Amino acid sequence: MKQQETIFDKIINKEIPAEVVYETETVLGFKDINPQAPIHVLFIPKTRIATINDIKDSQAELMGQLFLAARDYAKQIDEDENGFRVVMNCNQNGGQDVYHLHLHFLAGRQMKWPPG
Ligand code: 5GP
Repeated sequence: MKQQETIFDKIINKEIPAEVVYETETVLGFKDINPQAPIHVLFIPKTRIATINDIKDSQAELMGQLFLAARDYAKQIDEDENGFRVVMNCNQNGGQDVYHLHLHFLAGRQMKWPPG
């Protein structure tokens, strides 16, 4: 089940709409449909990786590109100095719902710790 296509494949393939804010050859960033902060973007690899557990050693650079996307986007929207949070949920206890790995980018308000 985890290896199957998700809604994010449809977003990558433009089969369903999404508000894309960032795109490279390998990474897509789009606004979360149910934002948990004034700014809530999801950065995903265009290639499907179900969870953190499924990352291959050869995909280390791709994972780095997700963080570089967050860095560049924060600067682009002028939230880099204010600060932001990135989160990646893994499997059930981590609160993962969509089994296409994604980096949540949250900004525009004071974050709390610990997260729920
Ligand atoms: P997870 O719980 O797997 O870490 O996060 C999945 C995220 O995907 C949630 O924040 C949810 O709101 C978002 N999401 C689910 N379906 C869609 C969709 O069709 N479009 C967009 N833009 N976001 C979605």
